[in-house]
Amino acid sequence: MLNQKLNQVYETMGIDAKILSFCDTIEEELKGRFSEIDANAEYNQLKILKAMQKNYLSDTHFAATTGYGYNDLGRDTLESVYADIFNTEDALVRPQLVSGTHALTIALSGNLRPGDEILSPVGKPYDTLEGVIGITEAKGSLAEYGITYSQVDLLPDGGFDWEGIKAAVNSRTKLATIQRSKGYANRKTLSVEQIGSLITFLKTLKPDIICMVDNCYGEFVEITEPSDVGADMCVGSLIKNPGGGLAPIGGYIVGKKECVENAAYRLTAPGLGKEVGATLGLNQTLFQGLFLAPQVVAGALKGAVYAANIYERLGFSVLPDGKEDRYDIIQAITLNSPEAVIAFCQGIQAAAPVDSFVTPEPWAMPGYTNEVIMAAGAFVQGSSIELSADAPIKPPYTVFFQGGLTWHHAKYGILMSLQKLYEKGLIRL
Ligand SMILES: *Cc1c(COP(=O)(O)O)cnc(C)c1O
Repeated sequence: MLNQKLNQVYETMGIDAKILSFCDTIEEELKGRFSEIDANAEYNQLKILKAMQKNYLSDTHFAATTGYGYNDLGRDTLESVYADIFNTEDALVRPQLVSGTHALTIALSGNLRPGDEILSPVGKPYDTLEGVIGITEAKGSLAEYGITYSQVDLLPDGGFDWEGIKAAVNSRTKLATIQRSKGYANRKTLSVEQIGSLITFLKTLKPDIICMVDNCYGEFVEITEPSDVGADMCVGSLIKNPGGGLAPIGGYIVGKKECVENAAYRLTAPGLGKEVGATLGLNQTLFQGLFLAPQVVAGALKGAVYAANIYERLGFSVLPDGKEDRYDIIQAITLNSPEAVIAFCQGIQAAAPVDSFVTPEPWAMPGYTNEVIMAAGAFVQGSSIELSADAPIKPPYTVFFQGGLTWHHAKYGILMSLQKLYEKGLIRL
């Protein structure tokens, strides 16, 4: 009865009955998978709750500070809660870290000195880091400060090139940067366990090497984090997983006390470090977003699994596939034509709570060689824990999509993407 009513509403909201019945069958098959995702969220929910209780979180911590922000008890408590959740000595969690790229920049530049070398043992890092490191020329890059970079690619099967890594580590190798998520690259996301074995190997080669993990999109997808398996620093964005969709800005760096302190001296100033940085009333939102994060991540994961199974059944190539374990919230779907990529993104946009009336079109985005199309109807600009999709308009026409503040919204977005493909005659049911 309720199901019938539900499908009637979907029909009034633009979804064809044929699409509903096709997708309902698949959803039914995913019950077991969804309950595993829920159990993971339950574990992380308790981990976060426990950390908040241990730190005596109270409404006094929600008060705003201004100016220098000395003695911001809420900020210090938030950092202590993050350190407990990530099992680290210290944390820097700040609205002044304006994005994930900024947090990574601060973690790197705070801990590296001229003459040091960075090693990426997992291939090319995320696009925005190319300018930061100086892989591509950019003003203010680490390369300009005499910091060099070396890279060892993953093997064709996705495994680590142990020999190559061994050969790359030298007396100047100060820090290894390990990107957990595939981001928008065509490789598999690393599990926490894989990251753990990589860190163990690196530390055997060089005990004092700093292992930094770019943790973007990975937080709370598993019951452990890279910092549980030896990472000296984990870094990420608050407008992705750990902000729970509520954080309007921010980034975090958790890890060894010395590493976090070095980062803080770079974020503010040598001698000032963590002591300053007013939170302007954001603490309550950052705590509450963190509290909701496991549930939000679970919704995004269900959406990704649902989409993978639907598009796989229709004959498209999907990464990860419908069955495999998940280590981040990103889903790649190869749609084989520009028309299909555009239709998919227009469907995601049409399903959004914000800007649903806007039609996304491909455009020449600065810094990209091909045109790019993006769909996002988010409460927080650029927030990719909210349902969003983007794709470069180039073969093989792969769309990357992620997020969904609730599973039901993710579901509607995917139904709508399918609807748009269906209307254009790009799929047959
Ligand atoms: C999102 C992301 C970043 C940082 O991106 P911002 O848009 O600057 O927050 C870095 N690495 C990975 C893997 C990411 O997914």
